[in-house]
Amino acid sequence: MPEVVIPIKSYVVKYACPKCGEYMEWGGGEFSTIPPQYPHFCPKCGYKETFRNRHYPFFAYEAERPNKRLHLTALRGLLRRLLAKVGGR
Ligand SMILES: [Zn+2]
Repeated sequence: MPEVVIPIKSYVVKYACPKCGEYMEWGGGEFSTIPPQYPHFCPKCGYKETFRNRHYPFFAYEAERPNKRLHLTALRGLLRRLLAKVGGR
């Protein structure tokens, strides 16, 4: 199957403190359980919560338009045109 390029939308997922709404922070620590657990704290009110398997913030993404494919040959053509435009100044 030929290689295809699919544009994506990316997101940052944060966790809001259930007490005050500030974003929880991960201090970098980890409990080596299975699955691992990550202790977080609220920088505003001090609320603490530990999450299994994930720490915040984290990045997520999805296909922008699932059926849109840019074939590499089309992408190369586009790059060539853009480079020609930049070079022609
Ligand atoms: Zn809080």
